[in-house]
Amino acid sequence: MLEPEVETCHWAEQLALDDESYRDQLVYLLERSSFYREKLAAAGVASAEEAGALTEIARLPLTEKEELKATCTPDNPIGAHLCALPSEIVRIYSTSGTTGAPSYIPLTAGDLDKWVTASARSYAASGIVAGQRIVTTYNAGPFVAGAALEAFDRIGLCHIPVGTGNTERLLQAVEALRPEAAVLTPSYAAHLVESAAERGFDLRGSSVERVLVAGEPGGGEPAFRAKLEEGWGARVTEAMGIGDIGPSLWGECEAQDGMHLGARGFVHAELIDPETGTALELDDGATGELVLTHLRHRAAPLLRFRTRDHVRVRTSACPCGRTGPRVRCLGRTDDMLIVRGVNVFPSAVREVVSAFAPDVSGHILVKPRTRGVKQEPPLPVSVELARGANAGDDLAEAIRDRLRNVLVVQTRVELVPWGSLRRSEYKSRLVDVEGP
Ligand SMILES: [Zn+2]
Repeated sequence: MLEPEVETCHWAEQLALDDESYRDQLVYLLERSSFYREKLAAAGVASAEEAGALTEIARLPLTEKEELKATCTPDNPIGAHLCALPSEIVRIYSTSGTTGAPSYIPLTAGDLDKWVTASARSYAASGIVAGQRIVTTYNAGPFVAGAALEAFDRIGLCHIPVGTGNTERLLQAVEALRPEAAVLTPSYAAHLVESAAERGFDLRGSSVERVLVAGEPGGGEPAFRAKLEEGWGARVTEAMGIGDIGPSLWGECEAQDGMHLGARGFVHAELIDPETGTALELDDGATGELVLTHLRHRAAPLLRFRTRDHVRVRTSACPCGRTGPRVRCLGRTDDMLIVRGVNVFPSAVREVVSAFAPDVSGHILVKPRTRGVKQEPPLPVSVELARGANAGDDLAEAIRDRLRNVLVVQTRVELVPWGSLRRSEYKSRLVDVEGP
């Protein structure tokens, strides 16, 4: 454990510390952020005292990404939530917005240090220790992942960056430099299992003992994870963050039962119902959208920020000794489809289908017939067969039945030959709209 006295601190004690930080953060926000002054005033909150305690945070309005973007002007391209003076800002990342201009994420030196600390705790939870070698595959570029990479120095690892999409270079590095760990997206980890097999490379017998996955949901789903662990002959744990709040806020430990909050003390986590925005208790087994609040941020702190990550909460004691709730990401609410009132995550479909290995390859594509979240059943799903498999109609039927039983969704399963669904060296697209 990187900081045992912090990471094992009794959770009630943590919340008491967080309450103090939160009250200070509100004073700071009301003083420096025109965005939050206006937003809180509109909600009838004119001072930090009126906002009250951290336990009352659900009374305050949620922050949406689009609201922040709407305040950007040529004079203030960062947005009205910017609190720091230009001279205080030491770095500006941008998010990988799919459309339009990127949004900028400024950091003070203190913010950056907290990001690196949180990421280091999150990644160290996997069990990697100082002196080991780690090969990384992020093309961090303008993105916040760059700060996560600094975490490997903080842990004391020997960092071997190879970048994304260079499988040959990665396998050569694994063979020649014998790293104990690798960091990559779950999609790329799965892709490498296949690529290594095609090249006759013995990934299972390689030096890699730990595979740390991050960047997209799915790395925690049991059948998908089992496939990765089998292919790599390594233990798979995941980490998760969100650009606007911090790069690797959560990290899973060796117990592999959900991610601990590495950013404890810096970030407060809540759960809401994504449809209504109502706050939900962080009870064991609860599911909902994760909402995060900066507690000790300076450049552009966010209050009750909607992450669009749909998670399940675990509150049982963890054998590793870290305290506090853990989460498992079920999917992005942006990817979620609603089929006759039932929420369906494409990554959950992949998880159910993956259990049909060795008949299937594990690659799927959900093909909604119309645009938009709401879909009429049956939902078309293409399922790729494993290499050399030629299964009949009864396999499609069995998959369809399992999807109906597990996810309560009616599907139309189409089996497609090995190699016909696109592989990804970064993040997978599990949904493709074919209709209007
Ligand atoms: Zn643990």
